[in-house]
Amino acid sequence: MTSVAYLGIAELVTNDPSLGDGGPLGRRTDAGVVVDAGRVVWVGDTADVPATDERVDVAGRCVVPGFVDSHSHLVFAGDRAHEFAARMAGHPYAAGGIRTTVAATRAASDDELRTNATRLLAEMRRQGTTTVEIKSGYGLTVADEARALAIARELTEEVTYLGAHVVAPEFADDPDGYVALVTGAMLAACAPLARWIDVFVEDGAFGPDAARTILSAGRAHGLEPRVHANQLGPGPGVQLACELGAASADHCTHLSDADVDALTGSGTVATLVPGADFSTRSPVYPDGRRLVDAGVTVAVATDCNPGTSYTTSMPFVIALAVRECGLTPAEALWSATAGGAAALRRTDVGHLGIGAVAHLTVLDAPSHEHLAYRPGVPLARVLAG
Ligand SMILES: [Zn+2]
Repeated sequence: MTSVAYLGIAELVTNDPSLGDGGPLGRRTDAGVVVDAGRVVWVGDTADVPATDERVDVAGRCVVPGFVDSHSHLVFAGDRAHEFAARMAGHPYAAGGIRTTVAATRAASDDELRTNATRLLAEMRRQGTTTVEIKSGYGLTVADEARALAIARELTEEVTYLGAHVVAPEFADDPDGYVALVTGAMLAACAPLARWIDVFVEDGAFGPDAARTILSAGRAHGLEPRVHANQLGPGPGVQLACELGAASADHCTHLSDADVDALTGSGTVATLVPGADFSTRSPVYPDGRRLVDAGVTVAVATDCNPGTSYTTSMPFVIALAVRECGLTPAEALWSATAGGAAALRRTDVGHLGIGAVAHLTVLDAPSHEHLAYRPGVPLARVLAG
C-alpha cells in the first residue's frame, strides 16, 4: 500500500473534537492528513506532515469527511417529472404516487435497474458522497423486492428492506394480507440480502400497528429498524421508532412536543430529508433548530427517489438544512457526515479521526461555510475513498 499526505488544507473538518477547534467539527487550519492502507493515520499542521510515498497539495481548499447519505431509494425505473410539474402547479402530493414507480420498476430488466442505480450513485460521488444507504420498495412482490436488494448489495453495504413502502396494488382490498406477505415469504427472501428494515408510517401507507408488526418481524430475522416518520402530517412514526430503538426516524417534518421529547435522550437519530419537503412543496420544513437545541442527534440525507426528492446532491440538502431547517452551516455539515454515520450506526465513516476510513471530500472553497453560502455551485468532489 502507498501512504499519501494531503497538505495545504486551508480548513480541515475532522468531526473529532480532540483534533481541532470549532466544537464537534474538530476544525484545523493550514492542515495535513496522512492516509495509509485506506485509513487516516495522521492529522496535524501542514508544516509537520511526515514523509510519505505521495504528497497531494490541495492548494488552500477545504477538506471535509465524505458525505454519508443515509437515506436513498436508488433502485427504480422511470421518472415522475410530470407529477413534479403538476405539484408545482398546485396539485398536492399523496403517498400513492409510489405505485407509478412500482409499475415501471416491475417492468424493467435487472440490467436497466442496475444501470440506473449505478448512474445515480456516480452522481452522488461526483458531489462528494462516499457512503450511501439504498432501500428497496418499488417491487412489492417477493421476487421484485429480493432483486432490488440484490442490486443494492452490489453497490453498498447499507441495504434496507422496504417491502412496506406502500400496500402493493394487488392487495388494495386486503392490506392485512400484504402485511402477512411482508412479514412472511417476502421477509424470508429479503432478510439475507439486507441489514435494515424500514416502514413508511403515514396515512395512505402503514399505520402504527402494522408498522410495529413488520419491524418486530424484521428484527426477529436479524434486521435493524428504521422508519419513514411524520412526513406528510403528525403521526405515530417518530414515537414508534423511539419505542423500538430504531436507528433513525426519517423525515420528521411534523413533530409534536411529545415527538421531540421521545427523540431527546433516545438512541434514535432524527434524519431530515428537506429535498423531499422542497419537491413535495411542503408548506413546512422540519425544525432542525428545535431538534439540535433539544440535544437530538440530527442527520441530513437526500431521500433520492423519483417521486418526491429526485436529487443526489448532499450539498443541496445542506443548503436547505441551513436555509429552511434552521441549522448553522457547521451543524448542517456535521449532520451530513457524522450525523449520517450515526443514523447508520457506523463509527468508521463520517469523521477523519485517527483510524477512520479515508473518505475525504474536497471543496473548491476555503471553508465549509461555502457549501450553503454558494448553493447550486459544484464545489464538492471526492478526494479519497
Ligand atoms: Zn424515503
